[in-house]
Amino acid sequence: MREYSKFYIGGEWVDPSTNEHMDVIDSATEEVIGRVPLGAVADVDRAVVAARSAFDTWSTTPVDIRAKYLRDIGAGLAARYDEIVEVISGEVGSPKAFTQFVQAGLSLGEWETFAAMVETYEWEEQVGNSLVVREPIGVVGCITPWNYPLYLIICKVVPAIAAGCTVVLKPSEITPLNAYLLTEVMHAAGLPAGVFNLVVGEGPSVGAAISKHADVDMVSFTGSGRAGAQVQRDAAETVKRVGLELGGKSANIVLDDADPAAIGMGAVFGCMINGGQTCSALTRLLVPASRKDEFVDAVMAEVSQIRLVDPKADEPDLFHTMGPMSSKAHQERVRSFIQKGIDEGATLLTGGPEQPDDLPTGYYVKPTVFTDVTPDMSIAQEEIFGPVMSIITYTDDDDAVRIANGTIYGLAGAVQSGDLERAKSVARRLRTGQVDINGGAFNTVAPFGGYKQSGNTRERGRWGLEEFLETKSIQLP
Ligand code: NAD
Repeated sequence: MREYSKFYIGGEWVDPSTNEHMDVIDSATEEVIGRVPLGAVADVDRAVVAARSAFDTWSTTPVDIRAKYLRDIGAGLAARYDEIVEVISGEVGSPKAFTQFVQAGLSLGEWETFAAMVETYEWEEQVGNSLVVREPIGVVGCITPWNYPLYLIICKVVPAIAAGCTVVLKPSEITPLNAYLLTEVMHAAGLPAGVFNLVVGEGPSVGAAISKHADVDMVSFTGSGRAGAQVQRDAAETVKRVGLELGGKSANIVLDDADPAAIGMGAVFGCMINGGQTCSALTRLLVPASRKDEFVDAVMAEVSQIRLVDPKADEPDLFHTMGPMSSKAHQERVRSFIQKGIDEGATLLTGGPEQPDDLPTGYYVKPTVFTDVTPDMSIAQEEIFGPVMSIITYTDDDDAVRIANGTIYGLAGAVQSGDLERAKSVARRLRTGQVDINGGAFNTVAPFGGYKQSGNTRERGRWGLEEFLETKSIQLP
C-alpha cells in the first residue's frame, strides 16, 4: 500500500488545502493499493506562485546545467525501474513485459534525448537585420491521462523543463502513484525549488484551476476530446497557449496487394496494444471487399492467441498477453460499446461484452472483433479505448481513403501494401498526424499529434521542445 498525504510545491512536501483523498485501485485484484490527497484551487494557486518565482532563475540557467539535472533525474528513475514497473502494472493493469518494455522503457529514454537536444539546439538565428531568439514560454500546467501515465507525463515535463519552463503537473487521479515516484526522484536529484510542482486532483476542480489561472502561460493537455475542449474554453479568457493531445479512431488500410500472412500480428497488436487503451490504436481495419475472407482469417488466427493475464505474472510474450482495463468505470464503458456494436448489427466474430468466465475478478474485457461494420456505426466512429477491432470493407483505394478520413479524428493510421510507393501515396492522402507503413516502428523523436479533433500540437523530438518556446525578434540597427 502506497499512501501519500502531501503535494510537492516549491521544493517541499506540503499539506493539501483539503482533507479529501482518493483510493488507487489495482485493476486486476480490485484491491486498494494506494491513497492520494485530492487538491483544490488553493493548492493550484500555491503551486503556480512557486513555479512563477522559480521561472526567472531557471529560464536563464545555462542549458548544460539544465541538461545535467535531466540526466541525473533519468538516472534516478532508472535506479527505481522495478518499482515503476510494479506501480504501473498495478494502477493501469498493463502486463509486466509490456510495462517493462513500453511503459517504463519509453519513460527512461526521454531524459537523455532532451538533454542532448537542448545542448545543440539553435536558440538564436539571424534573419536579415533581426536576431530571432527562442525563449521558454513560462509557467506550464501539464494535465495527463492514465493509459501511459508516466511516459505521457514525461513527454511534457521533460521538454518543458529542458526548455527552461517551470511546471505544475496534475496527473490522472486514477493513476497518480507513478507521478509521486517521479517527484521523489526529482527531489532527490536536487532540482531547484519550484521548477517542478505536483498537485493531484480531479479534472473539473484542479485541472480547471490550472487552465483558468492567469499566471499560467500554457496548458499542455493529453486526454479525451471532451475534457480537452473544456480546457480550451477555460483557457480562452487568459489567452494562454493550449497544447492538446486528444483521442483517435485510427484506420489501418490493407491494400489489395498486401500479403495476409504479413498483416495479422501487426493489425491485432496495433489495435489491442495496452488492452486497446492507446490513443493511436489502429481500431478500424479497412480490408478490400474482394479479399475480405483472407484478411479476416489472418486476424482471427492472431486474436485467438491472445491470453488475458495477471499483469504481475512473468509472461514474456508482450504481443499475445493482455491485462484488465484500468478501472471499473472504463471496463463498463468498453463493454457498453461492444453491446452497441451488436445492437447496431455488426457481426461479432470473437469476444463480447461479458466478464470472462475464468476471470471473475479484475476489470477484464475479452479481445473483441467485429466484421460487417459500416462506417456510420458507433463502433466505426467513436473512440472505444478498449480491445475492440472493427473490420470494414471498401471497394477501391479512393473508397478506403474516404472511409479512413471519415471520422472527427485524425491521430494515427497505417497502410499495408506490397508496393511501398503506392502505400506512401495513400499515406499522404490520410488526414492524420502519423501513418505507419507495413509495420514501420514507433519513433520517439518523430512528431506525434493529431489533425482535426485529435488535437492541435506535436510532442516528441524537436517539435516537442518547440511546443514550449516563445519566439522573439530583436531588430538590430
Ligand atoms: P480524461 O480527459 O478523462 O482525463 C485526462 C486528464 O484530464 C486527467 O488528468 C483528468 O483529471 C483531466 N481532466 C478531466 N476533465 C478536466 C477538465 N474539465 N479540465 C481540466 N482537466 C480535466 O482522459 P483519460 O480517460 O484519462 O484518458 C483517455 C483519453 O486520453 C482518450 O481519449 C485518449 O485517446 C486520450 N489520449 C491521447 C493521447 C495523445 O497523445 N493524443 C495519449 C493518451 C491518451
